[in-house]
Amino acid sequence: GPAPEADTEARQWLARHNGSFGHFINGAFVASASGKTFDSFEPATGALLAKVALGGSEDVNGAVAAARKAQGPWAKLPGHARARHLYALARMIQRHARLIAVVEALDNGKPIRETRDIDIPLAARHFYHHAGWAQLQETEFADHVPVGVVGQVIPWNFPFLMLAWKVAPALALGNTVILKPAEFTPLTALLFADLASAAGLPPGVLNVVAGEGETGALIVEHEDIDKIAFTGSTEVGRLIREKTGGSGKSLTLELGGKSPFIVFDDADIDAAVEGVVDAIWFNQGQVCCAGSRLLVQEGVAPLFHERLKRRMATLRVGHPLDKAIDMAAIVAPVQLQRIESLVAKGVSEGASMYQPKIELPKGGSFYLPTLLTEVQPTSVVATEEIFGPVAVSMTFRTPEEAIQLANHSRYGLAASVWSETIGLALYVAAKLAAGVVWVNATNLFDASSGFGGKRESGFGREGGKEGCYEYLKPKAWLGRKLRPEP
Ligand code: NAD
Repeated sequence: GPAPEADTEARQWLARHNGSFGHFINGAFVASASGKTFDSFEPATGALLAKVALGGSEDVNGAVAAARKAQGPWAKLPGHARARHLYALARMIQRHARLIAVVEALDNGKPIRETRDIDIPLAARHFYHHAGWAQLQETEFADHVPVGVVGQVIPWNFPFLMLAWKVAPALALGNTVILKPAEFTPLTALLFADLASAAGLPPGVLNVVAGEGETGALIVEHEDIDKIAFTGSTEVGRLIREKTGGSGKSLTLELGGKSPFIVFDDADIDAAVEGVVDAIWFNQGQVCCAGSRLLVQEGVAPLFHERLKRRMATLRVGHPLDKAIDMAAIVAPVQLQRIESLVAKGVSEGASMYQPKIELPKGGSFYLPTLLTEVQPTSVVATEEIFGPVAVSMTFRTPEEAIQLANHSRYGLAASVWSETIGLALYVAAKLAAGVVWVNATNLFDASSGFGGKRESGFGREGGKEGCYEYLKPKAWLGRKLRPEP
């Protein structure tokens, strides 16, 4: 189990707020105008972690007004001055990395090893990277202006990293933000607001309104917001697309996926097995670009499945703050039930199920690493996003068949190809409908590389120079003497 002192600093931070959090509007924490709150639980134990203000229309109006007021002065700062703010935020994340990592692990249920080594360092890197773009704004984006006031709605699976992906580019390029974290995981966004305030970010530049889907809808429909950036389910994404259509708002959507993980006969099998561990058991499989559809060439399939099962039996499932575990809790009982019912559906559709005999911790929301084989390509488990630690496996004979199976999906977020024949891997990679293809690798991310989907996985990119353009509008400068004489 976890060391008893492991979460002392996090408990002290919660205690400082009396376990009760307001929205962060115009540089200060405030209760909801309605006085309403919602509860955030610890998925690993089911215990109440904090009470959080539930955002209603007055709160959203207040946040939008603050963001509107702050936007002009923020955009007028020279790029290097905004860069200084982003560097300060990045350093603040690094200085408090342990606290953020622990709060994130408690609130989401994910392993501390992941928040400590992946989520929080990548988030800091995102702020450093975008500080660089802020610094270059006048030269690199001379014919662009900021979009303005941006509403950002994020999911619970990578609460802090998704915050970084949204907030860093928006602020770097002169926009101001109203951010709504997911209802299961509001705490690290509020912690970030605390840190941003201590780092001297001007009031109104970043506002956090906590709440549920209805709060998100109020943001989406607000008339004085210029752009919506959303990450979450394909269903809500579709709704937001309908609501913003014709409103004049810019929109980017990062939605679901059912990404193929293709293993050819000549793949390095041990490496590919480790790849599957990363692809579908990282973050309990609650990853939009999870390699959830294994496509294995027939010749190697029996050996591959045998090695994979052997590896699954060594996975350790435990408390998020235990550093020696591979998987921890599912975010909420409702998500756990969704996973259970989809797996039951798979079995009723004829799939054969393997789960290792691992003892699960008692009390919280836990699920075993699961492999479904003999899955039909048109079945529910092969086409629906399970968003849990469940790999579904199918076989293929030829590269053409692999491509056809891989592209047989309404999604197009990511894909991963495993072969020691680089020509084959690149040939297949080029034919896959996906925003990113990893070759002999999976789940690689970098702030300098644009991430995003095709088809029903959404549109727009986050990261890199292409991600910056999502927070800018082109502006043509025509006319005599518009610019000063040289
Ligand atoms: P969700 O769509 O239910 O919720 C996402 C966010 O939207 C939450 O903050 C929620 O409160 C808010 N919301 C809900 N209804 C809303 C509405 N009508 N209007 C405005 N906002 C609303 O998704 P989730 O269950 O939190 O997250 C899981 C999903 O997110 C998965 O499908 C996953 O694939 C997807 N996801 C995609 C990416 C990506 O980059 N493409 C990344 C992470 C997660």
